[in-house]
Amino acid sequence: MSHPNIIIIGAGAAGLVAAIELEKAGFSPLLLEATDRVGGRLKTDEVDGFLLDQGFQVLLTEYPEVNRYLDLEALKLKTFRSGGHVHTRQMHFRFADPMREPAQIVRSALSAVGTLSDKIKLARLGFKLRTKSIEDCFAGYAEVRTIDYLWSLGFSEQIVERFFRPFFGGIFLERELHTPAAMFRFIFKMFGAGSAALPAGGIEAIPKQLASQLKTTEIRCNTPVRNVSGTTVTLADGQEVDAPGGIIIACPPEQILPQLAGTPTEWKGTTNLYFYSNRRLKENRLINLVSDPTSLINTFCVLDEVAPSYKVNQQGGSLISVTLRDMMIRESVIGQAEQDLLRHSRLPNDSLKFLARYDVTQSLPKLSPVAYRHDPTHCRVADRIFLAGDHQLNGSLDAALRSGRLAAEGLLSV
Ligand SMILES: Cc1cc2nc3c(=O)[nH]c(=O)nc-3n(C[C@H](O)[C@H](O)[C@H](O)COP(=O)(O)OP(=O)(O)OC[C@H]3O[C@@H](n4cnc5c(N)ncnc54)[C@H](O)[C@@H]3O)c2cc1C
Repeated sequence: MSHPNIIIIGAGAAGLVAAIELEKAGFSPLLLEATDRVGGRLKTDEVDGFLLDQGFQVLLTEYPEVNRYLDLEALKLKTFRSGGHVHTRQMHFRFADPMREPAQIVRSALSAVGTLSDKIKLARLGFKLRTKSIEDCFAGYAEVRTIDYLWSLGFSEQIVERFFRPFFGGIFLERELHTPAAMFRFIFKMFGAGSAALPAGGIEAIPKQLASQLKTTEIRCNTPVRNVSGTTVTLADGQEVDAPGGIIIACPPEQILPQLAGTPTEWKGTTNLYFYSNRRLKENRLINLVSDPTSLINTFCVLDEVAPSYKVNQQGGSLISVTLRDMMIRESVIGQAEQDLLRHSRLPNDSLKFLARYDVTQSLPKLSPVAYRHDPTHCRVADRIFLAGDHQLNGSLDAALRSGRLAAEGLLSV
């Protein structure tokens, strides 16, 4: 095997950006990836003529690092509408974002999502965060729990149950809202300033576009790394590769760096189901938020309304993505979730066909405190070994991209 100067381990968003930065500085790194393709947690499968992302996720168009590394136009982004449909045990109703859709102001004021006072507080919060920098969104809130922050702002239980728990619970992948309020403020600001979108080619179009920017990096898939010692990387098959220029570990490092074995990354998981309905379900590109405590479902949406290309063959009917409240391993959840989906969507009984299920045990790192950025020396674990990955900062695509850049900058500076 050749002796590359620099090795990057892990070809997720963080590893790909690290490679982009190293190439800019004139290096030709070797990028080692355990699985069959680049992308990490950003993967899309084509199943029975549908594009299925491995776990429901969206791209927020205002993420600073997204705008630094991605050509959003080339991704042909398809956006969700702001607002949503809320499903409680007794009723379901739509609410709109009056800042985005002023024509909906009366509907918004009257909607049962929260009290009038909640809506005023929501609008005030949106305005306040819009005028703050992202650093300010994080400062002082890195360890405060989101739920405590919401109570401190005086929001009612009604809006917490009907909006904040399903909506932010769907983003944080935990409905208790124990995720630091810094993340809530950051994400709230991002939603206020931009859109939630899906690339026409599925979420995997993101890492594909990053990889297409690489010209001199050698990407080796199906090459898991077993261990790193000094500047030697040992592969799972026992081969050793030396990287005198340094190593960027862009995956959870504890399995391959013995000195970090005692501090494993903790993870939040999620279960995502896909159904095909032979009827067209009209949701107007809105997300459905389920606050009914008897339902297994947290959110669902009609993907092909947002991004018609998710139905590759442009067949009729609807492609529905369902995210469950909790990660559920048991087999029986599919039938139960189908019943819940029929109830919330009011589709006729025989109209749904189960397509696929994704249990993503390592979806988001469980972190407290979280950070927006750090000094590159912060992710240096040895002379020429740097760490990257969202687990270094916060659980978001923005953090993954930023951590890859910072690790490369760190390595280039020693
Ligand atoms: C279901 C779900 C929903 C999400 N929703 C959102 C969202 O709406 N908005 C948002 O901003 N973010 C969201 N995220 C988070 C976002 O996808 C991640 O932050 C980002 O993709 C992480 O990139 P990464 O490079 O840090 O890690 P990863 O993508 O995990 O990449 C790590 C790579 O390292 C490889 N690897 C691991 N071990 C080894 C080894 N020993 N040797 C070689 N290679 C190895 C892995 O195979 C993988 O390819 C979501 C994630 C999931 C799963």
